[in-house]
Amino acid sequence: MKFTQEHEEIRRTTRNFIEKEVNPYVDEWENAGIFPAHELFKKMGDLGLLGISKPESVGGMGLDYSYELVAAEELGVAHCGGVPLAIGVQTNMATPALARFADKSLQQEFLAPAIAGDLVASIAVSETGAGSDVAGMKTAARKDGDDYIINGSKMWITTSTQADFFCLLANTSEGKPHSNKSLIVVPANTPGITLSEPLNKLGMRSSDTAQVFFDDVRVPQRYRIGGEGAGFMMQMIQFQEERLWGAANTLKALERVVGETITYCRERHTFGQPLIDNQVIHFRMAELQTEIEALRALTYQACETYIEGKDVTKLASMAKLKGGRLAREVSDACLQYWGGMGFMWDNVASRSYRDSRLASIGGGADEIMLGIICKYMNILPAKRRS
Ligand SMILES: Cc1cc2nc3c(=O)[nH]c(=O)nc-3n(C[C@H](O)[C@H](O)[C@H](O)COP(=O)(O)OP(=O)(O)OC[C@H]3O[C@@H](n4cnc5c(N)ncnc54)[C@H](O)[C@@H]3O)c2cc1C
Repeated sequence: MKFTQEHEEIRRTTRNFIEKEVNPYVDEWENAGIFPAHELFKKMGDLGLLGISKPESVGGMGLDYSYELVAAEELGVAHCGGVPLAIGVQTNMATPALARFADKSLQQEFLAPAIAGDLVASIAVSETGAGSDVAGMKTAARKDGDDYIINGSKMWITTSTQADFFCLLANTSEGKPHSNKSLIVVPANTPGITLSEPLNKLGMRSSDTAQVFFDDVRVPQRYRIGGEGAGFMMQMIQFQEERLWGAANTLKALERVVGETITYCRERHTFGQPLIDNQVIHFRMAELQTEIEALRALTYQACETYIEGKDVTKLASMAKLKGGRLAREVSDACLQYWGGMGFMWDNVASRSYRDSRLASIGGGADEIMLGIICKYMNILPAKRRS
């Protein structure tokens, strides 16, 4: 991956933004269970950071995905996972399909203001009975004149208590589960939408998450993204950016945990010497840093493949899998060397341990990534019919 002056500028802008506008407030937001999405996204929109790889016609920078990748990586300098997660939802999870498949008028109505930071977006795919098994979801959008009438519910929806619109996956016909779904933009203030209380989570505390209920929610059919019945396919494509973003966002976050752990282990003495002088500890730090560099190489390779327009599914799944597993390994290993301090709630390794646990579950669990990789390796057994 060759980085240009422009990449470095995006890196610097993102890092400055996080250091000035996010890190001083992280502890407050973690305690409150929410961060001010509208205020923060407007500032990001003004800097252009919400539309790096989106078309210029809707206010984006029109750059390729490598520029998005450096921003995702740099967001990892945040002192929590929750705020970067919500930013990632806005830029790389709820809006890629809008940018790629929606018609111009829908893009002007929802994507352009999302890029400007005027509208907050959520992605609404998972349901209580269908997370990994996306095809098994039940929320339905029935045609009525020029409208859809939506009934059902979506579970664990990030930033939903602040969202202005949902990018919703719904069944729009009775047909086969891979060809009966559509992606529909649903404004959050449409009558019939209600939310649960914010969900009480293990980690990602500064990001608000709730269940969203749709009870006879009426939206015009022109709010559908792309063709009817193509929603599952579009969501699978949209997932690739989510997974690449997730892997890239892990890199600096983990390096920060390793770096802070090294600093602590230099200062902390046991048995007359700094902790870091124990070979088991300095070797472990070297090992973890090596693993992070390996993840970086895999993520960059996946990104290059994506930019070249080739099928990135296998590499993106590998990067997502490796990122989730490494995040658990790094935060657990580092927490150990902080001793009792590592068990404290606000400790850097402790927060990483809690926040990063999501990476092996959300956006496709590790086992789902393994299944995809097996499919590409041609070793996934065919499903038996009973
Ligand atoms: C904090 C948070 C934020 C989220 N944000 C969003 C969001 O904004 N939008 C959204 O749509 N969703 C969101 N999700 C949902 C998330 O994507 C799902 O939780 C995830 O896809 C897993 O689905 P599930 O929880 O239903 O687990 P299940 O599908 O019930 O699976 C449970 C576990 O079983 C294992 N498993 C599943 N299938 C297989 C298999 N075939 N073989 C072997 N093992 C298997 C996996 O280990 C998996 O973790 C969020 C979740 C959380 C916790």
